[in-house]
Amino acid sequence: MARLVDRLNDKPGLVVELVTGEDDVCRPCPHLDNGACRRFGSQVEELDARVLERLGYRPGDCITWGELLDNLSTSINAEQLAEFCGDCRWTDLSYCTDGMKTLEKNRTGGGDRP
Ligand code: SF4
Repeated sequence: MARLVDRLNDKPGLVVELVTGEDDVCRPCPHLDNGACRRFGSQVEELDARVLERLGYRPGDCITWGELLDNLSTSINAEQLAEFCGDCRWTDLSYCTDGMKTLEKNRTGGGDRP
């Protein structure tokens, strides 16, 4: 995951397609089974759809990685993550919360922009 994020951050102009459900991030995950998530099931689609709606996008929209980060940093803050992430086990590891705080800090000029 960290390597993928680093690669995306190196290319903020890269166009990404927004999807709900299993995606490229899931590809190496051991919970992915025949294109479906064995861990969260259909909850993945619901959570993804909730995030896209908050950001004002629809599944299938194509935008740059930089635009997505800008929108994320102004639309959702770290304290609101639980509202979008359900009982995802990554939440307890603070990986996403730390990432959102970094985004917010970068937007307000308190850190290095990815
Ligand atoms: S747990 Fe499910 S949603 Fe999360 S990365 Fe793995 S397959 Fe994808």
